[in-house]
Amino acid sequence: MEFSLEYAQQEDNNDPLKDFRKEFFIPPHGKTTEVLYFTGNSLGLQPKKARDIVLEEMDDWAKLGVEGHTQARRPWMPYHENFTTSLVKLTGAKESEVVAMGTLTANLHFLMVSFYRPTEKRRKIVCEAKAFPSDQYALQSQIAFHGGDPKADLIELAPRPGEHTLRTEDILETIKAHKDEIALVMMGGVNYYTGQWFDMETITKFTKQHKITIGWDLAHAMGNVPLKLHDWGVDFAAWCSYKYLNGGPGCVSGVFVHEKYHKDKKLPRFAGWWGHDKGSRFEMPETFNPIASAEAWQHSNPPILGMASLLASLELFDRAGMDALRKKGVQLNQYLRFVVNEISQRTGVPINIITPDSENDHGCQLSLVFPNNGKALFDHISEAGVIADWREPDVIRMAPVPLYNRFEDIYQFGRKLETAIEKTMERNV
Ligand SMILES: *Cc1c(COP(=O)(O)O)cnc(C)c1O
Repeated sequence: MEFSLEYAQQEDNNDPLKDFRKEFFIPPHGKTTEVLYFTGNSLGLQPKKARDIVLEEMDDWAKLGVEGHTQARRPWMPYHENFTTSLVKLTGAKESEVVAMGTLTANLHFLMVSFYRPTEKRRKIVCEAKAFPSDQYALQSQIAFHGGDPKADLIELAPRPGEHTLRTEDILETIKAHKDEIALVMMGGVNYYTGQWFDMETITKFTKQHKITIGWDLAHAMGNVPLKLHDWGVDFAAWCSYKYLNGGPGCVSGVFVHEKYHKDKKLPRFAGWWGHDKGSRFEMPETFNPIASAEAWQHSNPPILGMASLLASLELFDRAGMDALRKKGVQLNQYLRFVVNEISQRTGVPINIITPDSENDHGCQLSLVFPNNGKALFDHISEAGVIADWREPDVIRMAPVPLYNRFEDIYQFGRKLETAIEKTMERNV
């Protein structure tokens, strides 16, 4: 690797996915340039086709009114089924195991209604320390809802002193040590803060060996890293689609429920008519009869306008393929590491990369810690047109994504980083 414009442009020329960038709107920076966008892990950019699809639904609504449920070009009644094939590829699920529905935090709650069922003895939940706040609130409130004590019943996995990320062996050790008290293990597949991709397969299989239920929050994993939820034996999972999946702000979430639960009509759940058997739904029967698939967890008829944009993006995922996306995602991440280290050496300012090195332990995201004055530096690069993400107390998160980021974006970022360090930090701190 080289820190030069020629090198970066050559990598872009050789990139088999290079044409996908043209499918997206890249936000402008000033009148003549574009931003360097590194927050595809927070809100993915807009696919150019998204607007057309949303407008098609608006037109169908205008022309058809209620008949659109069955007569629209994409009939609204089974609209969620338009996503199934793509979601299957992204999650490694069977068709019956995935459904686009609801919103992420709400879905986690609904899934826990079915899958967090504490008993006197087994009542604890294992999660990562510093989990995304919404997940922490969800877990704490679930425990409290069942009459438990969140302080005592939440086991938080923390890194060893002086370390930033979790070791798989420590995770397994904790699960083993508490195996008779744990009702649920629920973690983020990729940690939002450090960018660590957990060894989901090992953790899942180990947890299942101990007959404990396991669910994954895939907010930072979907569309970022390859998943095999069915084969790994994951019980349930949920994700949002506005991050790597580019569905648009607040776009619909999705859930995975392993097929072994599909025929269990006794499983507790908060039911709604959209989870009811499709054949008799409109006979409005009195008793809920769940569809024998993940669709049984649906409540309401799908929000068409809030889903339409996702079709545009998933079509791009289908075309690019997760293998090629993952390959480029790793390359971008490695080039960003290289550039950051290069600038660190040139300026004499130590920059600590807290995202694990090994390719198996990260996705696109890189999390950086600067020694001092990190916020001033962040403000400086932001003004220079770099869109990254600041997390208190001292982390800058960046995620070059394979569908629209270029190697040149990373090179240009390196140039701006060097200038920003010179303006905001003393050398050799
Ligand atoms: C982004 C994110 C969320 C957001 O939840 P919403 O319900 O979609 O607002 C939740 N959990 C994690 C881990 C996230 O990364």
